[in-house]
Amino acid sequence: MIYLDNAATTAMYPECGEDLIKYSSLDFFNPSAPYAKSIALKTKIESIRKEFLESLHAPDGEIIFTSSGTEADNMALFGAKKWKNAKIIVSEGEHSAVYNSAKALKERGCNVNFAPIDKGGAVNMEKLAELLDEDVALVSVMHASNETGAINDISEISRLVRIYSPKAVIHSDGVQAYLKMPVNLRLLDVDLYTISGHKFHAPKGVGALYIKKGVRIRPVLYGGGQEMGLRSSTENVGAICALSTANAIGNANFDKNYSKKRDLVEYFRLKLIDALPTAQIISPQNSIPNILSVAFENIRGEVLLHILEKDGILVGIGSACSSNKESRFKKLFKLDEGHSEGIVRFSFSEFNNKSELDFVVEKIVLAMHEFGEFKRK
Ligand code: PLP
Repeated sequence: MIYLDNAATTAMYPECGEDLIKYSSLDFFNPSAPYAKSIALKTKIESIRKEFLESLHAPDGEIIFTSSGTEADNMALFGAKKWKNAKIIVSEGEHSAVYNSAKALKERGCNVNFAPIDKGGAVNMEKLAELLDEDVALVSVMHASNETGAINDISEISRLVRIYSPKAVIHSDGVQAYLKMPVNLRLLDVDLYTISGHKFHAPKGVGALYIKKGVRIRPVLYGGGQEMGLRSSTENVGAICALSTANAIGNANFDKNYSKKRDLVEYFRLKLIDALPTAQIISPQNSIPNILSVAFENIRGEVLLHILEKDGILVGIGSACSSNKESRFKKLFKLDEGHSEGIVRFSFSEFNNKSELDFVVEKIVLAMHEFGEFKRK
């Protein structure tokens, strides 16, 4: 199998599996119980919180462990303080975890504004700036797009928000950015930041929300008061420990993996364009190093995906974690008619190599001869 859908999910590092087993069997205790074994687990969780704060370069903030990136995004959107007639701004390019939360807030009567994106997937800064004023309570713009890999200039967004919307809470969904590009929350100056384990080789079902010191949000889950009262429920100790293990491995190998992925994407892009000049690259220059989104001519992305699957190649067509098959991005990328149905997302990990990519390009060209652009000519 050649797996090129790492933006949908990644293979878990085997070391994380050891944590999952250890903390579900040997060390299975409830961290809230008063005996020593439980206290030791509580202490371990606290030290992992610190690890993440260090890794995010925001040591005086708070980390709330959640069951996913989706939950952390929901916490940010629903938990951030709002007032009557307050404005909420989210970018049109957000993952559904933010986008649909914003839509739900709109249905509840909130004044939600969607900031347009450019055709590469990054938010249009001018249009975003036009929406800022004193009434804005929340701004949520993702750090890197899961559709194209486009990087948003979050520090510039924060600078503008602090000037023109000083009461606003700033949230950024960093699910695709964290451990794919350098992330320094001190420089980004956000109040809330989301990460998700399964995008960086930790298990599925664990994520975190960073909260800047002094920023207050309301809980979304009520109960026993775990996670500083913001996210009640017995801590998923094994998953949190596995998250920490993946974080350590990811950080230790960051530079090496960053260059490797950047190199792979560039190799693939050049090879693909050379073999298939009509393929349009959607991902902009300023993207994370592991995603290349491409629009193929006269073929549906889904058709190409299944043709490649027969050769053991797994790719994405975007929004794989959404059950809604009709992507709103087709329109947003402003592609011509011939290309608008043919979007495929290739996303890489450090486990890919160039000979795999040679094979993938070869198979794409064959598929296009049989079903795509060449068939019409
Ligand atoms: N945000 C972004 C940008 C994503 O890419 C994803 C998953 O694809 C999520 C949020 C949701 O994360 P999770 O799958 O952990 O709920």
